[in-house]
Amino acid sequence: MSIGLSARCDCVMQSEIRMMSVECAREGGINLSQGVCDTPVPPVVRAGAAGAIEAGRNNYTHYAGIRSLRTAIAGKYRSLYGMEVDPHREIIVSAGATGAMYCVFQALLNPGDEVIVFEPYYGYHVSTLRASGARPVFVRLEPPAWSFGASGLRAAITPGTKAILVNTPGNPSGKVFSREEIGLIADVAKTHDLFVFTDEIYEHFLYDGARHLSPAMEEGMRERTIVVSGLSKTFSVTGWRIGYVVCDARWAGAIGYFNDLFYVCAPAPLQAGVADGLESLGESYYKGLSEEYEAKRDRFCEVLREVGLTPGVPRGAYYVLADTSGIPGKTSREKAMYILRRAGVASVPGSAFYHDGGGDDLVRFCFAKEQTVLDDACRRLKRLG
Ligand code: PLP
Repeated sequence: MSIGLSARCDCVMQSEIRMMSVECAREGGINLSQGVCDTPVPPVVRAGAAGAIEAGRNNYTHYAGIRSLRTAIAGKYRSLYGMEVDPHREIIVSAGATGAMYCVFQALLNPGDEVIVFEPYYGYHVSTLRASGARPVFVRLEPPAWSFGASGLRAAITPGTKAILVNTPGNPSGKVFSREEIGLIADVAKTHDLFVFTDEIYEHFLYDGARHLSPAMEEGMRERTIVVSGLSKTFSVTGWRIGYVVCDARWAGAIGYFNDLFYVCAPAPLQAGVADGLESLGESYYKGLSEEYEAKRDRFCEVLREVGLTPGVPRGAYYVLADTSGIPGKTSREKAMYILRRAGVASVPGSAFYHDGGGDDLVRFCFAKEQTVLDDACRRLKRLG
């Protein structure tokens, strides 16, 4: 038989996260490997979606999203960041940030284009780039601050570079890019005429007084920055699949056409629910989120320290990379399996966030869990001590 799978399948088959979830279910463990938040959905968001279903708003919407949602997104950018966005020409609502990113890559990258990716990275970014025919080029972030140097970034640029991909606050490191770092990325992007793709899905999960800075807010960067974000995490609605792109109208048009081609539109009544949430929940809701998750982070990191899994304390997002050099096993996969079998808590092997065998002394835990689940995980982790 000479028929077979496409070469593209290599980009989607291996997922350590999926594998650990399966192993976790087999062991009856607590799954801290996946980034699924268990916190309640705000009542206004639920009521908005339920009301829209009851009112019969169940049909296709405009491919770029319902007007009230785009207006609410623009309103958020104005009130939180002082950034003016045209809701009719510069916003595309898509099937989650994941769908949004795929549309962006389809619209703006050609096969073979190089995109700088900071490592440790979020696996979907790399797989989506590869599935789009682009080539990720890696720049290492060095612990403990997950910092990078200007020379390292500049050295990665070639005539084939088309973009730099930023994820702030970042998964898996919890890194929040500083003003200097964003400034440096902006300088490099302008000098070499590059796009900056920035995944800001964790923009409302910030600790220790950290501030969210988007490359789009830098001088002269608005036209070349493609912001991707969404409501999965902010409203705990990962299964609703609502994300969006904010960018210059020159790019939004084509991104919207790909969104139409792949998804037609994001789920109609769920768009209405998150629009209601964005309109009625403001800064105090976002502040409350950060406070709630900061408390979870502190409690969880304290236990990690106690049991010898020294954490790289995150300044944003809701993951923590922990040092497993004291855990038996040669690879991060063996170490994650040891932790699962001994303590009954699943994590993601660090190698899932590196392209070349890095991360062997790291595992990633997600602390976006209900307090009782997190407490149980902490109790179990103490079996390692
Ligand atoms: N971007 C990052 C960095 C993530 O960690 C995740 C989920 O874990 C997503 C995007 C997925 O977002 P969405 O549910 O909106 O597709």
